[in-house]
Amino acid sequence: MNRNSKRREALVYHAKPRPGKIEVVPTKKYSSQRDLALAYSPGVAEPCLEIAKDVNNVYKYTAKGNLVAVISNGTAVLGLGDIGPDASKPVMEGKGLLFKIFAGIDVFDIEVDTKNVDEFVKTVKNIAPTFGGINLEDIAAPEAFEIERRLKEELDIPVMHDDQHGTAIISAAALLNALELAEKQIEHVRIVCSGAGSAAISCMRLYNRLGVDLNNVVMFDSEGLLGAHRNDLSPEQQEFRTAKEYPNLAAAMKGADVFLGLSVGNIVTGEMIKSMANDPIVFAMANPTPEIDYNVAIASRPDIIMATGRSDHPNQVNNVLGFPFIFRGALDVRSTAINEEMKMAAVQALAGLAKEPVPEQVNIAYGETRFTFGRDYIIPKPFDPRLITTIPPAVAKAAMDSGVALQPILNWQQYEDELLD
Ligand code: NAP
Ligand code: MG
Repeated sequence: MNRNSKRREALVYHAKPRPGKIEVVPTKKYSSQRDLALAYSPGVAEPCLEIAKDVNNVYKYTAKGNLVAVISNGTAVLGLGDIGPDASKPVMEGKGLLFKIFAGIDVFDIEVDTKNVDEFVKTVKNIAPTFGGINLEDIAAPEAFEIERRLKEELDIPVMHDDQHGTAIISAAALLNALELAEKQIEHVRIVCSGAGSAAISCMRLYNRLGVDLNNVVMFDSEGLLGAHRNDLSPEQQEFRTAKEYPNLAAAMKGADVFLGLSVGNIVTGEMIKSMANDPIVFAMANPTPEIDYNVAIASRPDIIMATGRSDHPNQVNNVLGFPFIFRGALDVRSTAINEEMKMAAVQALAGLAKEPVPEQVNIAYGETRFTFGRDYIIPKPFDPRLITTIPPAVAKAAMDSGVALQPILNWQQYEDELLD
């Protein structure tokens, strides 16, 4: 399909038969006068009074507990940049669609017309009573860091900025499995990262918690190495400043075990991949054009373990493997947060699932590919039906163990059955 017909197909998909991708559907009967008297006045006053007496009852009598806000100000939308809140709406509706189809979670997409951190935080806080959780989306760094930090502090429902943590969680699962295949110890691997934006920084923070030694990490942005000479770095970037000196990315990549790309397309060559250590792990995740073309990278050496952000190659680091299932687990135990323990549990559960034999229906869904754990299959596929029974229980259990679950799960078998409903 050429670019023009792809463009037309996407526009028609969004416009027809009715504009947009989501709708609100009633969940109770509404056919008789009696039903309406229950759904609205006078019957509705009863749950109102119960909630006014005890705010916890809001989870019993309203949709709050299964409702997530996908909130953006449109300042860093996909790879499109600062296109504003209105233009971000298709993405936020799309996220709503994914939450629903993968984890049965309802979403209101909220587009906020401000770039001011205080105003944004205040807006989200003011509407938080509506929601069981907050998914921050496509908000530019460095504001995104402060917005998420403050909302996590000030709200008692789960808050997650998916662009930071989703990518970190999925790629971390892929990294653990790639290291296993390469037979390398996480404590000792040398990592070169191209990009020092929100995705790269949160990936590095999570890898560090998994065992990566920051003395073995160097990062680059469009100005070059995040080295001692740099006085233009944000506080977050300063965590990753190195005392080492490399004139450029190519020099740093010589002998490196891992290349992580969260920057821009086509800045790495086959020669640079050839200069890396044995069994090099190359995650070129710039979208839509990776730091190095998949086929060029694969052709450069046979021992490479490669992942990208694209669906047309093996090992897609796809955030949809994370956010629906992480929020599912968090909501199901009425977690007050999505904390580090829960993210770590998601990483381990995803990494573990990729090592299990793949059900036939997954092979069929992906055109009769035979997936077995190995270089071309280091992370599960989004249409794997085991994700819903694997990731949410792991996340829910981590919430319980770390003391943030207000409503612990008592019967795990029953919970698994409910997840399949
Ligand atoms: P971001 O916050 O805007 O960060 C982009 C980073 O790339 C900045 O540090 C920027 O440096 C750096 N950069 C720009 N040109 C560069 C160059 N020529 N060489 C080295 N670094 C360069 O964006 P982000 O949200 O972190 O996302 C970064 C990329 O990762 C995007 O392409 C995005 O699509 C992709 N991504 C993929 C996935 C996935 O596959 N699942 C998930 C998240 C993000 P300056 O600040 O100096 O400009
Ligand atoms: Mg996003």
